[in-house]
Amino acid sequence: MLGRYFLHRERNFIVSLKMDISSIQRTAWHEFIRLMPKVELHLHLEGAFTFTTLLSLIKKYGGDSRVRSTSDLKDRFAYKDFPQFIETWKWKNQFFRVPEDFELSTFETLTDLHHQHVEYVEAFFSPWDFTENGLSMPDITRAVLTACRRAREEYGIRCSLIADLNRDHGAKLGMQRIDEVAGFIDQGVIGIGLGGSEHLYPADLFEEVFAKAKRYGLHRVAHAGEAAGPKSIWAALLKLDVERIGHGTRAGEDPLLLEELRRRKIPLEVCITSNACTGVVQSIATHPLKQYWDAGLVVTINTDDPTMFGCTLTDEYFLLMDRFGFTPEALRQICYNAIESTFLDGAGKRQLRTHLDEIWKDVPSDTHTHQSN
Ligand SMILES: [Zn+2]
Repeated sequence: MLGRYFLHRERNFIVSLKMDISSIQRTAWHEFIRLMPKVELHLHLEGAFTFTTLLSLIKKYGGDSRVRSTSDLKDRFAYKDFPQFIETWKWKNQFFRVPEDFELSTFETLTDLHHQHVEYVEAFFSPWDFTENGLSMPDITRAVLTACRRAREEYGIRCSLIADLNRDHGAKLGMQRIDEVAGFIDQGVIGIGLGGSEHLYPADLFEEVFAKAKRYGLHRVAHAGEAAGPKSIWAALLKLDVERIGHGTRAGEDPLLLEELRRRKIPLEVCITSNACTGVVQSIATHPLKQYWDAGLVVTINTDDPTMFGCTLTDEYFLLMDRFGFTPEALRQICYNAIESTFLDGAGKRQLRTHLDEIWKDVPSDTHTHQSN
């Protein structure tokens, strides 16, 4: 039913573009962006739950008198500083107590992404963060994979998983965890990431961990250039042999690094709203992504922890157009970048490109370079 509804809207929209090109305004392009097939490469499932899911889990575990509605929850997730953000993160984690909670949450997150026309996700998950809730990595992983399979069956959305190793937990545990991750390599867990305190635990410490992951055939990404500077990005490239950089926001502090990222075509998983919320940039307007785009880097757009930061992938594309002046053609290229930067095989990428081309083929080409101001 839902698919038909969107198709209907899509057809009407394309017709209106053809009939009245001169009146194409930002709102029309917003509608187009909403309908555009999308790919998400930097999203943490633990920060992407829906408020409806969390409210149901809170009620399941006895309720909270201060949180009776999703509106109360939204207030609970309005932070005034970083310590409060961390406190809220920990607070919500306590309501994930059995594998079924992860299955429910993952399925509802993927449902929400499907409604944004996200067709493919490479999502981080951090199963070891919940061992103190009495849960094991394999139990959580199986539950999340079950949800991914169900979402694919019901909506066609595909989700591959990247297990996020926490820098703060050290390399010794990291080595053990690679073995656990490798046990799921044929079931939808395709790689490892490196999150946690980038400024305290440099990438160099994890060289052997990433080498081991590579031997298993796991893909490798790392957060870098978010809480630390260019040195951290260099280390991720040279010591960890990563295939993408999470954020890379501070890459511009080193022109040689920018050139290296461009030359090696290393995709940046840019997360604009996240960077503004955590203070990596002073404001959205000062985010350097346009500089990176103009320098020819492989820029992709992502949400990081959308529920925690109150954003959606669709919103981030709106930002590109409304705040950074990206043309529709540039947005299209950013979608292509995301597709090319996935760890899908050739056929998987081709399928996503075909879906993207499908919606673009009816848009008159002279509107592609329309500049939004
Ligand atoms: Zn992240």
